[in-house]
Amino acid sequence: MKLFERFPVTVSNSLGGQKETFKPLIEGFVGMYVCGPTVYNHVHLGNVRTFLTFDIISRYLRHLGFKVRYVRNITDVGHLENDADDGEDKIAKKAKLERLEPMEVVKNYTEGFHEVMRQFNILPPSIEPTATGHILEQIEICKKLLDAGIAYESNGSIYFSVRTYNQLQPYGILSGRNIEELMESGRDLDAQDEKREKIDFALWKKASPSHIMRWNSPWGPGFPGWHIECTVMSTKYLGETFDIHGGGMDLKFPHHECEIAQASAANGKPPVRYWIHSNMLTVNGQKMSKSLGNSFLPAELFSGNHPLLSRGFSPMTVRFFMLQSHYSSTLDFSNEALQAAEKGYRRLFNALLALKALKATGFAETSSATGAGLASLADDCYKNMSDDFNTATTLAVLFEMSSRINDLHAGVLKTSEITESDFKKFADTYIMMMEDVLGFLPEQQEGSAHLKGAMDVLISLRKKAKADRNFQLSDKIRDDLKSAGIQLKDGKDGTMSWEAE
Ligand code: AMP
Ligand code: ZN
Repeated sequence: MKLFERFPVTVSNSLGGQKETFKPLIEGFVGMYVCGPTVYNHVHLGNVRTFLTFDIISRYLRHLGFKVRYVRNITDVGHLENDADDGEDKIAKKAKLERLEPMEVVKNYTEGFHEVMRQFNILPPSIEPTATGHILEQIEICKKLLDAGIAYESNGSIYFSVRTYNQLQPYGILSGRNIEELMESGRDLDAQDEKREKIDFALWKKASPSHIMRWNSPWGPGFPGWHIECTVMSTKYLGETFDIHGGGMDLKFPHHECEIAQASAANGKPPVRYWIHSNMLTVNGQKMSKSLGNSFLPAELFSGNHPLLSRGFSPMTVRFFMLQSHYSSTLDFSNEALQAAEKGYRRLFNALLALKALKATGFAETSSATGAGLASLADDCYKNMSDDFNTATTLAVLFEMSSRINDLHAGVLKTSEITESDFKKFADTYIMMMEDVLGFLPEQQEGSAHLKGAMDVLISLRKKAKADRNFQLSDKIRDDLKSAGIQLKDGKDGTMSWEAE
């Protein structure tokens, strides 16, 4: 029996708000689309949380034996400021500011994004399409929506008529918003406005003479809207209806709501079966966001060079910190939580190393309660991961397993009490959960080499301070290192060694 049949997966579907048994359209195959970054800026730690959520989902589904086609786009045109229909294109604005060609901005930040994903061991998607690579398809869908009478042209731009759509099918099913209220809310339109109603959204925007990102269209030079790119790229690579669509919670409205309306209107069927939204990383309860000024970059996190950080933390510590919460809960950043995560991660990783080094022989011939207990811990990992990808409860089971590994290592728990098959199930599950599913890697080697070099310098400074009888300085070096998580140990013969907590 396949793993995905033994451990059926449940998913919290944002559409309907229920936990449902996950059943893909095609047996054994999963199509998943995740809204990728808008590449006008470096990704911050909040963005990393969302991409990590979908890394875990694709890793786990693959581990269970599904073939996953994971499409994550790059938004390189059409995302206007404040997610609105007016204002500047984020990439065009940055290009002007940096005096670069827009595609240079796109290349720089796309490369930066890939580097961050690599640092956190977030695996690449199967396909990474760009919005500018799909202009023709976006024009085609605009034509289709115009022909269907659901979109209209106004002064060289194309808008989606939400009222017309809503007469055919309800608008607002994902975010649960009330259309009447939406029609009333927001800024009133004036004579300059191209839209018929303020709730309508742009599918195609006319480019003003100074707008640098522009393509020819049947309506004159222009550029695509933000929502339409995801509809085009998801359906092109995954079909008109596909299994999972993901993104951060903040994309539910208007972005994903508009995607549902456009795709349903163009193709006559709902585009997505399971909508999954990852919750926000917050700082003091406020969403981490570049515009709020409370964001920091992964590089700042590694170096500790930011006012919000007490010191640097490794990518794997951060990965562990994030996975300690379920993706649907908010997660508040704190130095204390990261310090605790560092310890937790080391404990689990050290147990992994101990398990791999264990020379397990002399197993029991008959099963025992102890062996069955180990095997059931392995099942618990799968039960928790299959329960809406609950990494938080899975980590709690792995902690329990790490204690058993330490017992085995210390000889408190003996292999003679366990059958080989119970041991193998326990050991294989621990290794696969840590490495394949949760994606933990050993701490970066180059980081440790640098740390070792820096520690050698500090130890020789402290030895010199002691020799000079400058005990104030020598104590300060010891105490400051301690608060940075490094313990200095003085040997009897004047030698000094150190240990990271
Ligand atoms: P953007 O590049 O702004 O389009 O964002 C890329 C992804 O990061 C989207 O799925 C957002 O929903 C997500 N995101 C933005 N801010 C946060 C945050 N503070 N916590 C978690 N995800 C976020
Ligand atoms: Zn999108």
